[in-house]
Amino acid sequence: MDVAVARKRLEEVRDELDRSVAVLGRSDQRSERGTDYPQDSADIGTNLAETDRSDAMLEAAQSRRVLVLDALRRLDEGRYGVCVDCGKPVPESRLKARPEAARCLKCQAAWDHVRR
Ligand SMILES: [Zn+2]
Repeated sequence: MDVAVARKRLEEVRDELDRSVAVLGRSDQRSERGTDYPQDSADIGTNLAETDRSDAMLEAAQSRRVLVLDALRRLDEGRYGVCVDCGKPVPESRLKARPEAARCLKCQAAWDHVRR
C-alpha cells in the first residue's frame, strides 16, 4: 500500500464525511420525538422514518470520521495498514474497501463481538 495513495484516499473520505456531517447536522431541527406523534398518520410516519434515517446516517458518518482521523494519525506514525490488535498486515483488499480499517478481518470480528 502506497502511503501517499492511502493518505489521499483517507483525506477524500474525511472531506466527504465532513460535508455529510455538516449537511445532516444542519437539517437536524426537529423538536423532541416520540410520545405525542399520532400513530395513524402516514405522513408523520414517513417524516419520522426520515428523521430516524438521517439520525442514523449522521451517527454513522461521525463515527466513521473518528476512524478515518485515527487512520490518518496511524499513517503519520508509520503504523498504517498494520492490525492494531495482532500486528499483522491488514490485507490491501480490505484497505481498499475501508481505508480507515484498523484491524484485520479476524480481529475486527472479535472486536465487534466484544462491543456487542
Ligand atoms: Zn488482527
